[in-house]
Amino acid sequence: MPVNLTLLPRPPRPPMSPRGLWRAARHAVPLAAMAWLTACAPEQPPAPPQPPAAAANETGSAPAGAADTEASVPVPAIAGSGEPEPRPAAVAPAPAAATDKADAAPGNPPLQLLGSEIPAGTSTRLMWSASRIFEGMSSETPVLVVHGHKAGPTLCITGAVHGDELNGIEIVRRVVQDLDPATLTGTVIGVPIVNIHGFRRGTRYLPDRRDLNRFFPGNPQGSSAARIAHSLFEGIVRHCDALVDLHTGSFYRANLPQVRADLGIERVAELAHGFGGMLVLNSEASPGTLRRAATDAGIPAVILEAGEPLRLQPKQVDQGVAGINRLLRSLGMIRKATLLKQPEPVYYRSRWVRADHGGVLFSVVRLGQTVRPGDILGNVTDPITNEQNLIHAPVEGRIIGMAVNQVVMPGFAAFHIGTEAQPGRQLALATETADSKTRPDRSGEVSDADNRGNPDTE
Ligand SMILES: [Zn+2]
Repeated sequence: MPVNLTLLPRPPRPPMSPRGLWRAARHAVPLAAMAWLTACAPEQPPAPPQPPAAAANETGSAPAGAADTEASVPVPAIAGSGEPEPRPAAVAPAPAAATDKADAAPGNPPLQLLGSEIPAGTSTRLMWSASRIFEGMSSETPVLVVHGHKAGPTLCITGAVHGDELNGIEIVRRVVQDLDPATLTGTVIGVPIVNIHGFRRGTRYLPDRRDLNRFFPGNPQGSSAARIAHSLFEGIVRHCDALVDLHTGSFYRANLPQVRADLGIERVAELAHGFGGMLVLNSEASPGTLRRAATDAGIPAVILEAGEPLRLQPKQVDQGVAGINRLLRSLGMIRKATLLKQPEPVYYRSRWVRADHGGVLFSVVRLGQTVRPGDILGNVTDPITNEQNLIHAPVEGRIIGMAVNQVVMPGFAAFHIGTEAQPGRQLALATETADSKTRPDRSGEVSDADNRGNPDTE
């Protein structure tokens, strides 16, 4: 439904820039996202955007029952996955545009993947293997495929590229399990454990201590990491129209569930917007990451960060599943279960706050907490001299990532503070944080614009 976002403003925000308004108008039509994802499928002409009044008037001609379950009105945050939400008592009439389009979509041709043919309207589990690399060691890892009855975009979801990041494994499992191939439009390919070697050993890395997420798109003649990356990229990722790569904080750090996306790339920004009411952090992908390689290959990709490594955290998993389900709805791949408006993402820029002294770090703030300049974030105590040093918030914002309590050295990145920003000015703001004219030269701070000092690049 074309929802004019200017009618549903976030009250505290100042007016959007012209670029922001233009982008908001584009996002007001959920089908626009569908259109760009299905641009390679000429049999599916994009539905023309309709003005709000016209869309509302169409309700009367919608198929019976369509207004209850198939409305194209965006949905709010959903705690679980796939559970229909009760319809609110008073809601706007539902348009039938998305429903009509989905119903009119032709049958889906079989999917050819990893040497198998998957008929439309079926779910299957394939095995992807890079076993030639480690002779004698089985390295098969499952690939979960739901090939919808109706043709549409292919969304790929990858987990555990870092083998110790467990929340993503469960997120993939739950998202895929809840999909019904009979009603799915398009295809979802889930690879819950990309780095099966690291997963088995409970480590981020491959057996040779290489970080797989520095070797994409890979090289068939390269190192073992480069070969695994190449196998995944050519065998699976090339089939995707969009990619969500799941991660957690690394090295004893936890992240508030958040989407990381290079908002300077329009298709990536649109993909990030589809997650609805999640925190979106502007972040340029580093070379060698799966996200960067996919985007460079024309496949828009984002990171979904949730929680910390080596743990399975139900709340973070719930939020990740809900975010991906909102994305599936915004792409028109699954039907909407509610008529409530989908919440808007909240865009952030960020900076790291570092410990200036070594010792035992104890935090006094919680993940997600709002802080103001001067607030105490934590203290670092020297266990030998008992000297105590406080770490203060340099800016107003929200704790979007932080280290768990541990022994730290001077320079350790302890707190990641996100500051809300308008999407239209996101890039400019991110750049400004690295400008000495707009922030004091404090050695304890690093902005996302400076990836050299960023401790949790995916
Ligand atoms: Zn990771």
